[in-house]
Amino acid sequence: MAKKLLVLSVDALFYKDMEFIKDMPNFRMMFEQGSYTKGMKAVYPSLTYPCHVAIMCSQYPQGSGIYHNEKLDPGNPAPPWFWWHKDLKCKTILDYAKEHGLTTAAFNWPVLGGCKNIDYLQAEIWARPSENEDQFEVYNSVCSPAIMDGIYQKYQHHLIGNKTPYYDEFACLCAEDVIRQYTPDVALVHFSLLDHTRHANGLYNNAVTAAMAACDGRFGRLVQAYKDSGVFENTNIIVLGDHGHIPVKQVFNPNIILKEQGLIEVDENGRLKDYKAYCNSAALSCQVVLKDKNDQQTREKVEKILEGFVLDHSIGVQEVITKEQAKELYNLTGDFDYVLEGCDDTAFGNDLTGSVIKDADTRDYKFSVTSHGHMPEKGNDPAFIACGPDIKKGVVLERGSLMDEAPTFAKLLGFEFPNANGRVLEELLK
Ligand SMILES: [Zn+2]
Repeated sequence: MAKKLLVLSVDALFYKDMEFIKDMPNFRMMFEQGSYTKGMKAVYPSLTYPCHVAIMCSQYPQGSGIYHNEKLDPGNPAPPWFWWHKDLKCKTILDYAKEHGLTTAAFNWPVLGGCKNIDYLQAEIWARPSENEDQFEVYNSVCSPAIMDGIYQKYQHHLIGNKTPYYDEFACLCAEDVIRQYTPDVALVHFSLLDHTRHANGLYNNAVTAAMAACDGRFGRLVQAYKDSGVFENTNIIVLGDHGHIPVKQVFNPNIILKEQGLIEVDENGRLKDYKAYCNSAALSCQVVLKDKNDQQTREKVEKILEGFVLDHSIGVQEVITKEQAKELYNLTGDFDYVLEGCDDTAFGNDLTGSVIKDADTRDYKFSVTSHGHMPEKGNDPAFIACGPDIKKGVVLERGSLMDEAPTFAKLLGFEFPNANGRVLEELLK
């Protein structure tokens, strides 16, 4: 019988968190029977969507097209995210698995909305539905018929708008059901509670430990579903994280300075009317876009302003990198002309009015008390733990990369991952 694969992404699970989860009732099995790495290098910006795409595609933003969580939409406080599989410029582990005749499933995994190669798809559509949207319509637009024709109806009452931990609970219930009924060959599951708890409360505290315990409980239910369907002994399991977090002490709103310099125009309500240059926060980094790429005068003016940000140490901008440098150093391309990297304690906001420097707050993940989006060489590395019939016991590998994950999943599923930017973590495999 071919082996099954479960990949559980616990959003914002770090290598450093292993000391907390290694004795939890369900995660314990991963450490007693499996192997792990001392963290994985994330991608830039270290945001959930670019990182999850890296995990499932072995591609940097240049190859995937996913360079931010959100699509560029200057002035829109709630822009659309990269929800759709059609937003991807590359194939995922599930696309290739399907081509190899395997059955596929995904639950709350980002950037998979509407994917036709997933038999059981409950896609993440963060952060929707909003208050005035119909929940069924929103889910029906991104999920597969196999989910919307029965499974959604069984569990939809667990969803409370766009709030956690209800997202995780709904995903877990759908996944358990699909595993029991259909035992898909490969399933990707994403829990976001730990990340949200960190954004709201900080890196380590009682709330964070409780969120880890909640993820442990849901992980235990997924494992039980494999046991109940009689395939547990034949299932390889990976538990991983997507990025680190860094504490935020201040929030810098560069658009207010661009407005003062005549590069952004606002209406009488303070809303964006037009712009020549706009800074789009990616949390601990920021992507600066010029509306007219040929406007040399604006380009020179913007460059001078951005250089000034670095020289003024109260602002907290570590460095400015050009579009060309972002591509060369980080394989990061997208709808921007410059990237600002914050100093360790500074996040970016998109405010157009008010104070240039503000305190962290929980209105938005981008500038809450801890956040991410920083260069991948900073902060905590995401975790990678594996166990199962094809995984060695007790191997501890040095740091790997998110790029190594999809090729390793493919090897466990019995095929080679094409065009990978990483390697199969052979040392962990039997
Ligand atoms: Zn994340």
